[in-house]
Amino acid sequence: MKANYKIYIFAAVIMEKKVRVRFAPSPTGGLHLGGVRTALFNYLFAKKHNGTFVLRIEDTDQTRFVDGAEEYIASCLEWCGLKPDESPSLGGPFGPYRQSERKATYRQYAEQLVASGHAYYAFDTSEELEAKRKEIPNFTYGLATRAVMRNSLTLDAAEVSALLASNTPHVVRIKIPENELVSFTDLIRGHVSFDTNLIDDKVLLKADGMPTYHLAVVADDRAMEISHVFRGEEWLPSAPIHVLLWRYLGWGDEMPVWVHLPLILKPDGNGKLSKRDGDRLGFPVYAQNWTDPKTGDLTKGFKELGFMPEAFVNLLAMLGWNDGTDQELFAMAELIDKFSVERISKAGAKFDFEKAKWYNHEWIKKSKAQELLPFVKEAFAAADTETGEDVQLAKVIDLIKDRCNLLGDFVAQGAYFFNAPGNYDLDAVKPKWTAEKAAFFEAYASELEDGQSAAVLEEKFKILAAAHNFKPGELMLPLRVMLVGGKFGPGVFDIAVSLGAAETIERIHKAIAAFN
Ligand code: GLU
Repeated sequence: MKANYKIYIFAAVIMEKKVRVRFAPSPTGGLHLGGVRTALFNYLFAKKHNGTFVLRIEDTDQTRFVDGAEEYIASCLEWCGLKPDESPSLGGPFGPYRQSERKATYRQYAEQLVASGHAYYAFDTSEELEAKRKEIPNFTYGLATRAVMRNSLTLDAAEVSALLASNTPHVVRIKIPENELVSFTDLIRGHVSFDTNLIDDKVLLKADGMPTYHLAVVADDRAMEISHVFRGEEWLPSAPIHVLLWRYLGWGDEMPVWVHLPLILKPDGNGKLSKRDGDRLGFPVYAQNWTDPKTGDLTKGFKELGFMPEAFVNLLAMLGWNDGTDQELFAMAELIDKFSVERISKAGAKFDFEKAKWYNHEWIKKSKAQELLPFVKEAFAAADTETGEDVQLAKVIDLIKDRCNLLGDFVAQGAYFFNAPGNYDLDAVKPKWTAEKAAFFEAYASELEDGQSAAVLEEKFKILAAAHNFKPGELMLPLRVMLVGGKFGPGVFDIAVSLGAAETIERIHKAIAAFN
Protein backbone atom coordinates (compact mmCIF):
# COMPACT_ATOMS: atom_id res chain seq x y z
CA MET A 1 0.00 0.00 0.00
CA LYS A 2 1.34 3.44 -0.90
CA ALA A 3 2.41 5.33 2.22
CA ASN A 4 0.79 8.64 1.36
CA TYR A 5 -2.71 7.22 0.92
CA LYS A 6 -5.47 8.23 3.25
CA ILE A 7 -7.43 5.17 4.19
CA TYR A 8 -11.09 5.27 5.00
CA ILE A 9 -12.76 2.13 6.11
CA PHE A 10 -16.49 2.04 6.06
CA ALA A 11 -17.82 -0.93 7.83
CA ALA A 12 -21.55 -0.55 7.78
CA VAL A 13 -22.80 -1.47 11.18
CA ILE A 14 -25.23 -4.35 11.06
CA MET A 15 -27.51 -2.80 13.59
CA GLU A 16 -31.01 -3.41 14.70
CA LYS A 17 -32.08 -1.55 11.58
CA LYS A 18 -35.31 -2.75 10.05
CA VAL A 19 -34.56 -4.77 6.94
CA ARG A 20 -35.57 -2.85 3.84
CA VAL A 21 -34.20 -4.01 0.50
CA ARG A 22 -34.88 -2.93 -3.03
CA PHE A 23 -34.82 -4.32 -6.51
CA ALA A 24 -33.98 -1.34 -8.70
CA PRO A 25 -34.12 -2.23 -12.39
CA SER A 26 -33.88 0.27 -15.21
CA PRO A 27 -36.76 -0.10 -17.66
CA THR A 28 -34.58 -0.68 -20.69
CA GLY A 29 -35.86 -3.98 -22.13
CA GLY A 30 -36.30 -7.64 -21.29
CA LEU A 31 -35.53 -8.89 -17.79
CA HIS A 32 -32.41 -11.06 -17.78
CA LEU A 33 -32.40 -14.05 -15.46
CA GLY A 34 -29.57 -12.40 -13.52
CA GLY A 35 -31.96 -9.54 -12.79
CA VAL A 36 -34.62 -11.93 -11.56
CA ARG A 37 -32.06 -13.64 -9.34
CA THR A 38 -31.16 -10.25 -7.84
CA ALA A 39 -34.86 -9.66 -7.19
CA LEU A 40 -35.17 -13.14 -5.69
CA PHE A 41 -32.25 -12.77 -3.27
CA ASN A 42 -33.59 -9.39 -2.17
CA TYR A 43 -37.01 -10.96 -1.67
CA LEU A 44 -35.71 -13.99 0.24
CA PHE A 45 -33.64 -11.81 2.54
CA ALA A 46 -36.58 -9.48 3.19
CA LYS A 47 -39.01 -12.32 3.91
CA LYS A 48 -36.51 -14.16 6.08
CA HIS A 49 -36.00 -11.09 8.27
CA ASN A 50 -39.60 -9.83 8.31
CA GLY A 51 -38.42 -6.95 6.21
CA THR A 52 -39.76 -4.99 3.28
CA PHE A 53 -39.10 -5.68 -0.39
CA VAL A 54 -39.25 -2.53 -2.50
CA LEU A 55 -39.46 -2.32 -6.29
CA ARG A 56 -37.93 0.96 -7.47
CA ILE A 57 -37.84 1.85 -11.14
CA GLU A 58 -34.61 3.63 -12.09
CA ASP A 59 -35.66 5.55 -15.16
CA THR A 60 -33.46 8.63 -15.01
CA ASP A 61 -31.68 7.78 -18.24
CA GLN A 62 -34.30 8.94 -20.71
CA THR A 63 -32.19 7.85 -23.68
CA ARG A 64 -32.38 4.21 -22.61
CA PHE A 65 -36.03 4.25 -21.53
CA VAL A 66 -38.14 1.65 -23.32
CA ASP A 67 -41.92 1.76 -23.45
CA GLY A 68 -43.62 -1.13 -21.72
CA ALA A 69 -40.49 -2.33 -19.92
CA GLU A 70 -41.75 -1.34 -16.48
CA GLU A 71 -45.02 -3.24 -16.90
CA TYR A 72 -43.04 -6.19 -18.25
CA ILE A 73 -40.73 -6.20 -15.20
CA ALA A 74 -43.73 -6.10 -12.86
CA SER A 75 -45.31 -8.99 -14.73
CA CYS A 76 -42.12 -11.09 -14.53
CA LEU A 77 -41.93 -10.54 -10.77
CA GLU A 78 -45.56 -11.49 -10.40
CA TRP A 79 -45.06 -14.69 -12.42
CA CYS A 80 -42.18 -15.65 -10.11
CA GLY A 81 -44.21 -14.90 -7.01
CA LEU A 82 -41.87 -12.06 -5.96
CA LYS A 83 -44.50 -9.65 -4.78
CA PRO A 84 -43.12 -6.26 -3.74
CA ASP A 85 -44.36 -4.63 -0.56
CA GLU A 86 -43.85 -1.17 -2.04
CA SER A 87 -43.71 -0.34 -5.75
CA PRO A 88 -44.78 2.24 -8.34
CA SER A 89 -48.16 0.58 -8.73
CA LEU A 90 -48.74 -0.28 -5.06
CA GLY A 91 -47.29 2.94 -3.67
CA GLY A 92 -46.04 3.03 -0.10
CA PRO A 93 -44.71 5.39 2.56
CA PHE A 94 -41.48 6.21 0.69
CA GLY A 95 -42.92 6.94 -2.76
CA PRO A 96 -42.83 7.84 -5.50
CA TYR A 97 -41.02 4.68 -6.56
CA ARG A 98 -40.17 5.87 -10.07
CA GLN A 99 -37.04 8.00 -10.07
CA SER A 100 -38.24 10.26 -12.87
CA GLU A 101 -41.03 11.33 -10.50
CA ARG A 102 -38.46 12.22 -7.83
CA LYS A 103 -36.51 14.53 -10.15
CA ALA A 104 -37.04 17.61 -7.97
CA THR A 105 -35.39 16.00 -4.96
CA TYR A 106 -31.94 15.37 -6.42
CA ARG A 107 -30.63 18.85 -7.33
CA GLN A 108 -30.34 19.94 -3.67
CA TYR A 109 -27.89 17.08 -3.06
CA ALA A 110 -25.81 18.00 -6.08
CA GLU A 111 -25.72 21.64 -4.86
CA GLN A 112 -24.83 20.51 -1.34
CA LEU A 113 -21.88 18.56 -2.74
CA VAL A 114 -20.72 21.57 -4.79
CA ALA A 115 -20.97 23.79 -1.70
CA SER A 116 -18.90 21.38 0.39
CA GLY A 117 -16.23 21.07 -2.33
CA HIS A 118 -16.99 17.47 -3.24
CA ALA A 119 -18.49 18.25 -6.60
CA TYR A 120 -18.25 20.97 -9.23
CA TYR A 121 -20.10 22.45 -12.19
CA ALA A 122 -18.74 21.49 -15.58
CA PHE A 123 -19.67 23.65 -18.58
CA ASP A 124 -17.78 21.78 -21.29
CA THR A 125 -19.85 21.43 -24.43
CA SER A 126 -19.96 18.13 -26.26
CA GLU A 127 -17.71 19.64 -28.96
CA GLU A 128 -15.17 20.66 -26.34
CA LEU A 129 -15.25 17.21 -24.78
CA GLU A 130 -14.83 15.64 -28.19
CA ALA A 131 -11.80 17.84 -28.92
CA LYS A 132 -10.17 16.86 -25.63
CA ARG A 133 -10.80 13.19 -26.32
CA LYS A 134 -8.92 13.56 -29.58
CA GLU A 135 -6.12 15.53 -27.97
CA ILE A 136 -5.58 13.39 -24.84
CA PRO A 137 -5.16 9.63 -25.30
CA ASN A 138 -7.55 7.53 -23.15
CA PHE A 139 -9.23 10.68 -21.92
CA THR A 140 -11.34 10.45 -18.80
CA TYR A 141 -12.71 13.46 -16.94
CA GLY A 142 -11.00 13.46 -13.56
CA LEU A 143 -7.89 14.02 -11.53
CA ALA A 144 -5.52 14.25 -14.47
CA THR A 145 -7.70 16.38 -16.72
CA ARG A 146 -10.17 18.42 -14.68
CA ALA A 147 -7.68 21.31 -14.44
CA VAL A 148 -7.70 21.83 -18.21
CA MET A 149 -11.49 21.71 -18.61
CA ARG A 150 -14.16 24.40 -18.34
CA ASN A 151 -15.55 23.92 -14.86
CA SER A 152 -16.06 25.70 -11.57
CA LEU A 153 -12.62 24.54 -10.43
CA THR A 154 -10.85 26.32 -13.30
CA LEU A 155 -13.10 29.32 -13.99
CA ASP A 156 -13.27 32.20 -11.58
CA ALA A 157 -16.25 32.57 -9.28
CA ALA A 158 -17.75 35.54 -11.10
CA GLU A 159 -17.66 33.72 -14.41
CA VAL A 160 -19.27 30.64 -12.89
CA SER A 161 -22.06 32.76 -11.39
CA ALA A 162 -22.62 34.45 -14.73
CA LEU A 163 -22.79 31.15 -16.57
CA LEU A 164 -25.25 29.75 -14.06
CA ALA A 165 -27.33 32.93 -14.08
CA SER A 166 -27.61 32.76 -17.87
CA ASN A 167 -28.72 29.12 -17.67
CA THR A 168 -25.70 27.85 -19.56
CA PRO A 169 -26.05 24.10 -19.93
CA HIS A 170 -23.89 22.33 -17.37
CA VAL A 171 -23.52 19.12 -15.44
CA VAL A 172 -22.42 18.51 -11.87
CA ARG A 173 -19.50 16.12 -11.43
CA ILE A 174 -18.20 14.47 -8.29
CA LYS A 175 -14.67 15.55 -7.38
CA ILE A 176 -12.98 12.24 -6.73
CA PRO A 177 -10.23 12.75 -4.13
CA GLU A 178 -6.60 12.04 -4.88
CA ASN A 179 -4.59 9.27 -3.22
CA GLU A 180 -7.29 7.66 -1.18
CA LEU A 181 -8.29 4.09 -0.72
CA VAL A 182 -12.00 3.69 -0.34
CA SER A 183 -12.61 0.52 1.60
CA PHE A 184 -15.77 -1.08 2.75
CA THR A 185 -17.13 -4.42 3.79
CA ASP A 186 -19.18 -6.47 1.40
CA LEU A 187 -21.08 -9.33 3.02
CA ILE A 188 -19.97 -11.72 0.27
CA ARG A 189 -16.59 -10.34 -0.72
CA GLY A 190 -15.39 -9.24 2.69
CA HIS A 191 -13.03 -6.29 2.80
CA VAL A 192 -12.82 -4.50 -0.56
CA SER A 193 -10.84 -1.43 -1.46
CA PHE A 194 -10.57 0.88 -4.43
CA ASP A 195 -7.87 3.35 -5.38
CA THR A 196 -9.48 6.73 -6.02
CA ASN A 197 -6.76 7.63 -8.52
CA LEU A 198 -8.35 5.14 -10.89
CA ILE A 199 -11.88 6.53 -10.66
CA ASP A 200 -13.11 9.33 -12.93
CA ASP A 201 -15.26 12.30 -11.95
CA LYS A 202 -18.65 10.82 -12.74
CA VAL A 203 -21.51 13.09 -13.70
CA LEU A 204 -24.02 13.32 -10.86
CA LEU A 205 -26.55 15.72 -12.35
CA LYS A 206 -27.10 15.99 -16.07
CA ALA A 207 -27.77 19.11 -18.11
CA ASP A 208 -31.49 18.26 -18.23
CA GLY A 209 -31.60 18.36 -14.43
CA MET A 210 -31.97 14.61 -14.15
CA PRO A 211 -29.61 12.87 -11.78
CA THR A 212 -27.42 10.07 -13.06
CA TYR A 213 -27.69 6.61 -11.59
CA HIS A 214 -24.91 7.29 -9.05
CA LEU A 215 -26.59 10.26 -7.39
CA ALA A 216 -30.11 8.90 -7.64
CA VAL A 217 -29.24 5.49 -6.23
CA VAL A 218 -27.58 6.96 -3.15
CA ALA A 219 -30.24 9.62 -2.57
CA ASP A 220 -33.03 7.08 -2.90
CA ASP A 221 -31.42 4.30 -0.92
CA ARG A 222 -31.16 6.81 1.89
CA ALA A 223 -34.62 8.32 1.42
CA MET A 224 -36.16 4.85 1.31
CA GLU A 225 -34.16 3.73 4.37
CA ILE A 226 -32.63 0.81 2.50
CA SER A 227 -30.71 -1.39 4.94
CA HIS A 228 -29.00 -3.79 2.51
CA VAL A 229 -28.08 -3.38 -1.14
CA PHE A 230 -28.20 -6.72 -2.96
CA ARG A 231 -27.12 -6.26 -6.56
CA GLY A 232 -25.01 -7.92 -9.21
CA GLU A 233 -21.24 -7.91 -9.05
CA GLU A 234 -21.14 -5.71 -12.15
CA TRP A 235 -22.02 -2.83 -9.82
CA LEU A 236 -19.05 -3.39 -7.53
CA PRO A 237 -16.83 -0.83 -9.37
CA SER A 238 -19.58 1.76 -8.75
CA ALA A 239 -19.65 1.05 -5.03
CA PRO A 240 -16.68 3.30 -4.09
CA ILE A 241 -18.41 6.25 -5.78
CA HIS A 242 -21.52 5.46 -3.80
CA VAL A 243 -19.56 5.07 -0.57
CA LEU A 244 -17.93 8.48 -1.16
CA LEU A 245 -21.34 10.04 -1.83
CA TRP A 246 -22.78 8.57 1.37
CA ARG A 247 -19.85 10.08 3.23
CA TYR A 248 -19.83 13.47 1.44
CA LEU A 249 -23.55 13.91 1.94
CA GLY A 250 -23.04 13.37 5.65
CA TRP A 251 -24.86 10.06 5.79
CA GLY A 252 -21.91 7.75 6.48
CA ASP A 253 -23.59 6.26 9.54
CA GLU A 254 -26.72 5.36 7.62
CA MET A 255 -24.98 3.59 4.77
CA PRO A 256 -26.58 0.26 3.81
CA VAL A 257 -24.78 -3.05 4.00
CA TRP A 258 -23.31 -4.01 0.61
CA VAL A 259 -23.98 -7.42 -0.89
CA HIS A 260 -22.65 -7.88 -4.43
CA LEU A 261 -23.95 -11.12 -5.92
CA PRO A 262 -21.73 -13.39 -8.02
CA LEU A 263 -22.11 -13.14 -11.78
CA ILE A 264 -24.09 -15.65 -13.79
CA LEU A 265 -21.63 -16.99 -16.35
CA LYS A 266 -21.87 -18.42 -19.85
CA PRO A 267 -22.11 -22.25 -19.91
CA ASP A 268 -18.36 -22.53 -20.58
CA GLY A 269 -17.60 -20.17 -17.70
CA ASN A 270 -16.01 -17.58 -20.00
CA GLY A 271 -17.61 -14.32 -19.00
CA LYS A 272 -21.00 -13.02 -18.07
CA LEU A 273 -24.05 -14.69 -19.60
CA SER A 274 -25.65 -12.35 -22.13
CA LYS A 275 -28.79 -12.39 -24.19
CA ARG A 276 -26.60 -13.00 -27.22
CA ASP A 277 -25.30 -16.26 -25.66
CA GLY A 278 -28.89 -17.43 -25.33
CA ASP A 279 -29.61 -16.61 -28.98
CA ARG A 280 -26.41 -18.32 -30.06
CA LEU A 281 -26.86 -21.46 -27.95
CA GLY A 282 -30.63 -21.69 -28.30
CA PHE A 283 -31.90 -21.07 -24.80
CA PRO A 284 -33.77 -18.21 -23.17
CA VAL A 285 -32.16 -15.70 -20.83
CA TYR A 286 -35.26 -13.57 -20.25
CA ALA A 287 -37.91 -14.49 -17.70
CA GLN A 288 -40.82 -13.94 -20.10
CA ASN A 289 -41.20 -13.24 -23.81
CA TRP A 290 -40.08 -9.73 -24.63
CA THR A 291 -40.98 -7.89 -27.80
CA ASP A 292 -38.82 -4.89 -28.54
CA PRO A 293 -41.35 -2.11 -29.20
CA LYS A 294 -39.08 -0.39 -31.74
CA THR A 295 -37.99 -3.34 -33.88
CA GLY A 296 -40.83 -5.76 -33.10
CA ASP A 297 -38.19 -8.44 -32.41
CA LEU A 298 -39.39 -11.17 -30.08
CA THR A 299 -37.02 -12.72 -27.56
CA LYS A 300 -38.28 -15.90 -25.94
CA GLY A 301 -38.68 -16.22 -22.21
CA PHE A 302 -38.55 -19.12 -19.76
CA LYS A 303 -42.26 -18.83 -19.08
CA GLU A 304 -43.41 -19.22 -22.66
CA LEU A 305 -40.86 -21.94 -23.26
CA GLY A 306 -42.68 -24.05 -20.71
CA PHE A 307 -41.00 -23.47 -17.37
CA MET A 308 -43.00 -23.57 -14.17
CA PRO A 309 -42.39 -20.46 -12.06
CA GLU A 310 -41.49 -22.70 -9.09
CA ALA A 311 -38.77 -24.37 -11.15
CA PHE A 312 -37.46 -21.07 -12.51
CA VAL A 313 -37.22 -19.61 -9.00
CA ASN A 314 -35.61 -22.80 -7.71
CA LEU A 315 -32.94 -22.89 -10.42
CA LEU A 316 -32.16 -19.19 -9.97
CA ALA A 317 -31.74 -19.65 -6.23
CA MET A 318 -29.15 -22.33 -6.88
CA LEU A 319 -27.11 -20.04 -9.14
CA GLY A 320 -24.66 -18.91 -6.48
CA TRP A 321 -26.34 -20.25 -3.36
CA ASN A 322 -26.84 -23.59 -1.62
CA ASP A 323 -27.96 -24.57 1.85
CA GLY A 324 -24.77 -26.48 2.66
CA THR A 325 -26.26 -29.88 1.84
CA ASP A 326 -26.83 -31.69 -1.47
CA GLN A 327 -30.45 -30.63 -1.58
CA GLU A 328 -31.36 -29.01 -4.87
CA LEU A 329 -35.13 -28.80 -4.87
CA PHE A 330 -36.59 -25.99 -2.83
CA ALA A 331 -40.02 -24.41 -2.79
CA MET A 332 -40.23 -20.69 -2.06
CA ALA A 333 -41.22 -21.16 1.59
CA GLU A 334 -38.25 -23.41 2.15
CA LEU A 335 -35.91 -20.99 0.37
CA ILE A 336 -37.07 -18.21 2.68
CA ASP A 337 -36.49 -20.44 5.65
CA LYS A 338 -33.02 -21.64 4.62
CA PHE A 339 -31.65 -18.54 2.86
CA SER A 340 -28.49 -17.08 4.31
CA VAL A 341 -26.03 -14.60 2.85
CA GLU A 342 -23.12 -16.63 4.28
CA ARG A 343 -23.95 -19.38 1.83
CA ILE A 344 -23.81 -17.20 -1.27
CA SER A 345 -20.62 -18.01 -3.14
CA LYS A 346 -18.05 -15.50 -4.32
CA ALA A 347 -17.40 -17.38 -7.55
CA GLY A 348 -19.54 -16.83 -10.61
CA ALA A 349 -22.20 -19.47 -11.32
CA LYS A 350 -22.20 -21.17 -14.72
CA PHE A 351 -25.59 -21.34 -16.37
CA ASP A 352 -26.45 -24.78 -17.71
CA PHE A 353 -29.68 -25.03 -19.70
CA GLU A 354 -29.79 -28.83 -19.43
CA LYS A 355 -29.70 -28.44 -15.66
CA ALA A 356 -32.40 -25.78 -15.88
CA LYS A 357 -34.62 -28.26 -17.71
CA TRP A 358 -33.83 -30.87 -15.07
CA TYR A 359 -35.24 -28.52 -12.42
CA ASN A 360 -38.37 -28.06 -14.46
CA HIS A 361 -38.72 -31.80 -14.97
CA GLU A 362 -38.37 -32.40 -11.23
CA TRP A 363 -40.96 -29.73 -10.50
CA ILE A 364 -43.38 -31.15 -13.03
CA LYS A 365 -42.94 -34.60 -11.48
CA LYS A 366 -43.44 -33.37 -7.98
CA SER A 367 -46.48 -31.22 -8.73
CA LYS A 368 -49.99 -32.57 -8.39
CA ALA A 369 -52.09 -32.91 -11.53
CA GLN A 370 -54.40 -30.21 -10.19
CA GLU A 371 -51.47 -27.80 -9.88
CA LEU A 372 -50.31 -28.54 -13.40
CA LEU A 373 -53.78 -28.39 -14.88
CA PRO A 374 -53.91 -24.64 -15.67
CA PHE A 375 -50.48 -24.70 -17.36
CA VAL A 376 -51.20 -27.86 -19.33
CA LYS A 377 -54.62 -26.62 -20.42
CA GLU A 378 -52.97 -23.50 -21.75
CA ALA A 379 -50.39 -25.56 -23.65
CA PHE A 380 -53.11 -27.70 -25.28
CA ALA A 381 -55.22 -24.64 -26.05
CA ALA A 382 -52.22 -23.06 -27.77
CA ALA A 383 -51.94 -26.24 -29.87
CA ASP A 384 -55.68 -26.11 -30.69
CA THR A 385 -56.33 -29.42 -28.96
CA GLU A 386 -59.66 -29.88 -27.20
CA THR A 387 -59.03 -31.68 -23.91
CA GLY A 388 -62.56 -32.06 -22.60
CA GLU A 389 -63.31 -32.44 -18.89
CA ASP A 390 -60.70 -31.36 -16.34
CA VAL A 391 -60.97 -34.67 -14.46
CA GLN A 392 -60.04 -36.53 -17.61
CA LEU A 393 -57.13 -34.18 -18.36
CA ALA A 394 -55.91 -34.49 -14.77
CA LYS A 395 -55.71 -38.28 -15.18
CA VAL A 396 -53.75 -37.88 -18.39
CA ILE A 397 -51.39 -35.46 -16.63
CA ASP A 398 -50.70 -38.04 -13.95
CA LEU A 399 -49.95 -40.66 -16.59
CA ILE A 400 -47.45 -38.59 -18.57
CA LYS A 401 -45.95 -35.96 -16.28
CA ASP A 402 -42.83 -38.06 -15.60
CA ARG A 403 -42.02 -37.80 -19.30
CA CYS A 404 -42.18 -34.03 -19.57
CA ASN A 405 -39.31 -31.56 -19.21
CA LEU A 406 -41.19 -28.52 -20.42
CA LEU A 407 -44.88 -27.76 -20.06
CA GLY A 408 -45.21 -27.84 -23.84
CA ASP A 409 -44.07 -31.47 -23.77
CA PHE A 410 -47.51 -32.39 -22.41
CA VAL A 411 -48.88 -31.74 -25.88
CA ALA A 412 -46.37 -33.96 -27.67
CA GLN A 413 -46.63 -36.60 -24.96
CA GLY A 414 -50.39 -36.49 -24.57
CA ALA A 415 -52.15 -35.31 -27.74
CA TYR A 416 -53.11 -38.89 -28.71
CA PHE A 417 -55.33 -39.12 -25.63
CA PHE A 418 -57.60 -36.56 -27.25
CA ASN A 419 -57.11 -37.22 -30.97
CA ALA A 420 -56.69 -40.66 -32.50
CA PRO A 421 -53.34 -41.00 -34.25
CA GLY A 422 -53.50 -39.81 -37.85
CA ASN A 423 -50.55 -41.93 -38.87
CA TYR A 424 -48.55 -44.77 -37.41
CA ASP A 425 -44.92 -45.69 -36.94
CA LEU A 426 -45.33 -48.46 -39.51
CA ASP A 427 -41.61 -49.28 -39.50
CA ALA A 428 -42.01 -50.44 -35.93
CA VAL A 429 -44.85 -52.83 -36.76
CA LYS A 430 -45.07 -53.71 -40.45
CA PRO A 431 -42.05 -56.03 -40.80
CA LYS A 432 -43.41 -58.44 -38.21
CA TRP A 433 -47.13 -57.96 -38.87
CA THR A 434 -49.05 -61.15 -39.75
CA ALA A 435 -52.64 -62.26 -40.34
CA GLU A 436 -52.40 -64.17 -37.04
CA LYS A 437 -51.58 -61.01 -35.18
CA ALA A 438 -54.52 -59.28 -36.84
CA ALA A 439 -56.76 -62.13 -35.69
CA PHE A 440 -55.44 -61.80 -32.15
CA PHE A 441 -56.25 -58.11 -32.03
CA GLU A 442 -59.76 -58.67 -33.47
CA ALA A 443 -60.35 -61.15 -30.68
CA TYR A 444 -58.87 -58.85 -28.03
CA ALA A 445 -60.99 -55.92 -29.13
CA SER A 446 -64.13 -58.02 -28.80
CA GLU A 447 -63.37 -58.65 -25.13
CA LEU A 448 -63.03 -55.00 -24.12
CA GLU A 449 -65.65 -53.31 -21.97
CA ASP A 450 -65.77 -50.11 -19.97
CA GLY A 451 -64.91 -50.41 -16.32
CA GLN A 452 -62.03 -52.87 -16.78
CA SER A 453 -58.89 -51.86 -14.91
CA ALA A 454 -55.41 -51.81 -16.45
CA ALA A 455 -54.58 -54.98 -14.51
CA VAL A 456 -57.66 -56.74 -15.89
CA LEU A 457 -56.86 -55.64 -19.45
CA GLU A 458 -53.32 -56.91 -19.09
CA GLU A 459 -54.44 -60.25 -17.69
CA LYS A 460 -56.89 -60.76 -20.57
CA PHE A 461 -54.16 -59.78 -23.01
CA LYS A 462 -51.78 -62.40 -21.64
CA ILE A 463 -54.35 -65.20 -21.58
CA LEU A 464 -55.51 -64.46 -25.11
CA ALA A 465 -51.92 -64.19 -26.36
CA ALA A 466 -51.18 -67.65 -24.97
CA ALA A 467 -54.34 -69.00 -26.62
CA HIS A 468 -53.12 -67.57 -29.94
CA ASN A 469 -49.61 -68.95 -29.43
CA PHE A 470 -47.95 -65.59 -28.97
CA LYS A 471 -45.68 -64.27 -26.30
CA PRO A 472 -47.34 -61.10 -24.93
CA GLY A 473 -44.09 -59.22 -25.60
CA GLU A 474 -44.55 -59.64 -29.35
CA LEU A 475 -47.94 -57.95 -29.22
CA MET A 476 -47.32 -55.07 -26.85
CA LEU A 477 -45.56 -52.84 -29.36
CA PRO A 478 -48.29 -53.21 -32.02
CA LEU A 479 -50.94 -52.41 -29.40
CA ARG A 480 -49.01 -49.30 -28.36
CA VAL A 481 -48.63 -48.09 -31.95
CA MET A 482 -52.38 -48.72 -32.49
CA LEU A 483 -53.34 -46.49 -29.58
CA VAL A 484 -50.55 -43.91 -29.63
CA GLY A 485 -49.25 -43.89 -33.21
CA GLY A 486 -45.64 -44.25 -32.02
CA LYS A 487 -43.37 -46.18 -29.69
CA PHE A 488 -43.70 -43.86 -26.69
CA GLY A 489 -45.98 -43.21 -23.75
CA PRO A 490 -46.86 -44.63 -20.34
CA GLY A 491 -48.19 -48.15 -19.68
CA VAL A 492 -50.27 -49.21 -22.69
CA PHE A 493 -53.10 -50.63 -20.57
CA ASP A 494 -53.26 -47.38 -18.62
CA ILE A 495 -53.68 -45.64 -21.95
CA ALA A 496 -56.48 -48.02 -22.91
CA VAL A 497 -58.31 -47.40 -19.62
CA SER A 498 -57.99 -43.68 -20.13
CA LEU A 499 -59.34 -43.89 -23.70
CA GLY A 500 -62.29 -46.06 -22.67
CA ALA A 501 -63.43 -49.29 -24.34
CA ALA A 502 -65.23 -47.81 -27.35
CA GLU A 503 -62.31 -45.59 -28.39
CA THR A 504 -59.76 -48.35 -27.79
CA ILE A 505 -61.77 -50.78 -29.93
CA GLU A 506 -62.14 -48.22 -32.68
CA ARG A 507 -58.41 -47.49 -32.69
CA ILE A 508 -57.57 -51.20 -32.82
CA HIS A 509 -59.84 -51.72 -35.83
CA LYS A 510 -58.58 -48.68 -37.64
CA ALA A 511 -54.96 -49.71 -37.08
CA ILE A 512 -55.49 -53.30 -38.20
CA ALA A 513 -56.76 -51.91 -41.51
CA ALA A 514 -53.74 -49.66 -41.77
CA PHE A 515 -51.24 -52.39 -40.88
CA ASN A 516 -52.71 -55.02 -43.26
N1 GLU B 1 -30.61 0.57 -11.94
C1 GLU B 1 -29.56 -0.38 -11.70
C2 GLU B 1 -29.81 -1.56 -12.62
O1 GLU B 1 -30.35 -1.36 -13.64
C3 GLU B 1 -29.55 -0.76 -10.24
C4 GLU B 1 -28.22 -1.13 -9.69
C5 GLU B 1 -28.29 -1.14 -8.18
O2 GLU B 1 -29.00 -2.01 -7.65
O3 GLU B 1 -27.73 -0.27 -7.55
O4 GLU B 1 -29.50 -2.69 -12.35
